[in-house]
Amino acid sequence: MLIVPTVPIAIASVLDIAPRASLMLVPSLSQHLLIQGLIRGEPLPVAWALLATASCLSPRARARLARRRGFIDARRSSADNPGTPAAQEDLAMTAARHYDVIVVGGSHDGLTCGAYLARAGRKTLVLERRPVIGGAAVTEEFAPGFRTSTFSYLMSLLHPKVIRELGLRELGLTVLPATDLFCPIGKDDYIVFSGDVRRTAAEFARFSRRDGAVYPEFDAWLNEAAAIVRGLLLETPVDPARRDLGGLSDLLAFAWKHRKIGDRFYRLVDLMTMSADDFLSQWFEHSVTRRRARLLLLHRHSSRGRRRRAPAYVVLHHIMGEHEGAGGWGFIRGGMGAISEAIAESGRRHGMEVRTDAEVKRIEVGNGRVTKVVTTGGDEYTARAVVSNASCKVTFGDLVDPAHLPAEFLGHIRNYRTFSTAFKLNLAVEAPPRFPAFDPAKCGFAAPSYVHIGPDIEYLQAAYEDACHGRWSRRPFLTAVVPTMVDDTLAPPGKHVVNVFGGHAPYALAGRNWDEARPDFVRTVYETLDDAAPGFSDGIIASQVLLPPDIERIINSPHGHIFHGELALDQLYFQRPAPRYSDYRSPVRGLYQCGSSTHPGGGVSGIPGHNAAREILKDWKGLSR
Ligand SMILES: Cc1cc2nc3c(=O)[nH]c(=O)nc-3n(C[C@H](O)[C@H](O)[C@H](O)COP(=O)(O)OP(=O)(O)OC[C@H]3O[C@@H](n4cnc5c(N)ncnc54)[C@H](O)[C@@H]3O)c2cc1C
Repeated sequence: MLIVPTVPIAIASVLDIAPRASLMLVPSLSQHLLIQGLIRGEPLPVAWALLATASCLSPRARARLARRRGFIDARRSSADNPGTPAAQEDLAMTAARHYDVIVVGGSHDGLTCGAYLARAGRKTLVLERRPVIGGAAVTEEFAPGFRTSTFSYLMSLLHPKVIRELGLRELGLTVLPATDLFCPIGKDDYIVFSGDVRRTAAEFARFSRRDGAVYPEFDAWLNEAAAIVRGLLLETPVDPARRDLGGLSDLLAFAWKHRKIGDRFYRLVDLMTMSADDFLSQWFEHSVTRRRARLLLLHRHSSRGRRRRAPAYVVLHHIMGEHEGAGGWGFIRGGMGAISEAIAESGRRHGMEVRTDAEVKRIEVGNGRVTKVVTTGGDEYTARAVVSNASCKVTFGDLVDPAHLPAEFLGHIRNYRTFSTAFKLNLAVEAPPRFPAFDPAKCGFAAPSYVHIGPDIEYLQAAYEDACHGRWSRRPFLTAVVPTMVDDTLAPPGKHVVNVFGGHAPYALAGRNWDEARPDFVRTVYETLDDAAPGFSDGIIASQVLLPPDIERIINSPHGHIFHGELALDQLYFQRPAPRYSDYRSPVRGLYQCGSSTHPGGGVSGIPGHNAAREILKDWKGLSR
């Protein structure tokens, strides 16, 4: 560090100018070194540049630089006395609170974004408001000795590129298979959906020979369509309205890349424009196969009824995953939190810092660009870029002063729909549900770990309409999974965890409140489970009930929407979350988005985080100006 004061002199002698004048070069030299250091992620040049700046500048110049660099919280007393130990300490503290990138929210997408940025050498800080990281991909103890995936419970969508590049398997990520999907029909019958097309076709044929015969064609058709959509997942949506050179070249590149789609384009049109119900009715004739196919494909979007025209595109959401398990869906050893932990560890190995219990209260903006974030605890952090993992409604509705956002953009964010009726029960049990209709020999597995319990589609429609009017369904549609059949890390020996995910429980009840109605609702769920698996609820040891308001409160997703917002045609691709801002950027320079409100939407995929990191790195040089 002794060389620091000599630098201006050396520059002066080389340039043949007075040392005082050479001091004027220091800010830009220091900034240059700072930027180079930050880009390469080398701490020494960064510290060097900061100290050089501190030692050589006049207090005024230092204050000016501090403002420019965002070091706004430098304490005045030490600024007036440069070179004192207090000043050095202040600078060190200031530097410690300055990051290249701050990620607001430590769920799997925020962590993915942070991990990619840390790997690219950016000094990255993740701030998570909860005491644990993971958001909706989290494992927690919910009863003594019982741990579970509190929210998301099955993995399929986590992108293989993210797994590979972040080294998640090496960090312990293990996918465990779920059994084929077992759907009881009353007490005496059932239908099984399998990743094996022939097996599912045979199951369909038990109800309709025609439907059995058509199933392989349906499966192939759907998989081809899914392949097209898979090709879009890692792409930043192209904005068709952009007319500048960059926009046009993006459009051309997009058209060229997808030039071989040909006739398959019409499949996408069907999937985007037809309701899932109409779409599936084109294929299957028998009520059981039609109903089961609908339920299978719609269960993740069960907040909608068929007349609400959930786009058939949501069908693809179910089959887009590329992993082992039931149709690509599997359990994660240690619960879904193991995904978030592995991603966090991958980032930490490249210097990413993660702070929990650190809720961001404000993202501040000055001169049209992001300047700092302030936590509810009063901590302030400056950064060149801030990226929000939180829902778009939280980011732009709560954290950024609306004065900094264009009215049209704010209008889109306000109108972004988050209607949700999904709920989750986590049950600690003596034994998994036993279904009278289940026959291990016929089904081909010892006991089902992945089950759909649901009445028919008409009931689903009625349930949806109940929810629209503030009532919960009298016989809700349920997905029940038993991860402890393949994972011994979650429950005491011999005991089990059952996750029950379902609809329809409206966010707000008509004429009642959830605190008072909760026991009645839980009774309804238990009765539905007992109808399919008699006596099951007698073996419940403990339960955790998560209704939409609970989900909202815990992960800060408005209305408890599981995907931060509906996957509807007008909220997808270049419209997600708002026109012109589907490229992970925002109207504020340096403020980015990386959560499920962005393309391609929800699910534990890591894709929004991956894509956002790429866009931030593209902008990096420009962000320093
Ligand atoms: C009940 C349920 C079941 C689901 N089941 C599945 C499933 O089986 N499989 C699947 O693939 N997907 C499932 N999903 C969807 C999936 O879990 C989510 O789409 C995905 O986890 C969202 O990830 P994310 O990183 O975008 O955001 P989130 O997981 O929603 O996390 C956002 C994070 O931001 C934090 N945050 C918010 N505001 C602030 C702030 N001001 N300051 C600091 N931090 C903040 C939150 O605390 C949270 O950690 C389910 C979701 C739910 C709720």
